[in-house]
Amino acid sequence: MQKINAWGASSAGKPLVPMTIERREPGPRDVILEILFCGVCHSDIHQVRDEWSGALFPMVPGHEIVGRVARLGRDVSRFKVGDLAGVGCLVDSCRACAPCAGGLEQFCEKGPALTYNGTEMDRKTPTFGGYSTRIVVDERYALRIPAGLDPAAAAPLLCAGITTYSPLKQFDCKKGDKVGVVGLGGLGHMAVKLAASMGAEVTMLSTSKSKEADARTLGASGFEITRDEKTFQKLAGRFDLIIDTISAPHDYNKHLGMLRVQGTMVVVGVPPEATPVHAFTLIGGNRRLAGSMIGGIAETQEMLDHCAKRAIVSDIEIIPIQKINEAYERVLKSDVRYRFVIDIASLRG
Ligand code: NAP
Ligand code: ZN
Ligand code: ZN
Repeated sequence: MQKINAWGASSAGKPLVPMTIERREPGPRDVILEILFCGVCHSDIHQVRDEWSGALFPMVPGHEIVGRVARLGRDVSRFKVGDLAGVGCLVDSCRACAPCAGGLEQFCEKGPALTYNGTEMDRKTPTFGGYSTRIVVDERYALRIPAGLDPAAAAPLLCAGITTYSPLKQFDCKKGDKVGVVGLGGLGHMAVKLAASMGAEVTMLSTSKSKEADARTLGASGFEITRDEKTFQKLAGRFDLIIDTISAPHDYNKHLGMLRVQGTMVVVGVPPEATPVHAFTLIGGNRRLAGSMIGGIAETQEMLDHCAKRAIVSDIEIIPIQKINEAYERVLKSDVRYRFVIDIASLRG
């Protein structure tokens, strides 16, 4: 076992503090990454506060990890020492079931090994995330970070990027489609960039008037304030596709009304409480309400390659780990432009 410096929470809702964790010695197919950067996803906050229940403590969050390969198991073939590599939300799965075989490892029938707040496939060993100096991962679950992508700004692609890329692909986002993105945070800003890169005409639907200029720079041609009820009337029946990234309770019925006939709204944000949807909201117009969870390993690599070709990365604010508790408060106030990324050098001390 190796002892690793990390920051985590000892129990639900406690501030993050320095701690030491143990990671396995590398097996034949493992790579060890010296972590350089880790993005701060709103899911880290939901889980550290046990808002989805069943959280495991101590918890070291972080699933937007970019690091440099420091050591290799003897059978590793896809990486060499010194390569940049990424780890997203998954570090293992059964590799044999239909979802695993079909590139949907996040839905592994045995339950995937989540990067943190989970266990390895032995269902005993806890997993710890990227707010730490090193991670050991089977090369099958490590991503290649293409040359040309800034390592810090690429880190959020490992969750915010794939979580928005996947539904755009699943629902065939293409040139000229009218796409609404709801909520301009970490996921939302990637949804705008990615939908625009696919040729869509993107409208940002936000509660924050102060983000309008940014939304346009990110690639949105329209910007509307959802605090104003008139927005929902004005945009009724407009969108082919809506990507809803809001992390807090809100009324899906109102947003669904902005879909065209047979349009689809994909929920990726996870408000802690359930939201009722009236049948008529969906029946009127054959509207579709869908959900989407991150993406499989192959699709994550496809997204990274898509971003590298088009020079797409996240807009970030780099922080030392010592600012993490303050950063969480700022995320909760929607005061982030648009993803905090931890410089892991600050844990090496
Ligand atoms: P974030 O950076 O905090 O962004 C969320 C945005 O939602 C905010 O910037 C804000 O945008 C809007 N918002 C916040 N509170 C609101 C409220 N009360 N009413 C209306 N709008 C509100 O969070 P994130 O990291 O993008 O994550 C967003 C959600 O996706 C979280 O619930 C997270 O757990 C979830 N998530 C899901 C997956 C998945 O696989 N499906 C993956 C990663 C994250 P405006 O200021 O523009 O209104
Ligand atoms: Zn995430
Ligand atoms: Zn499986």
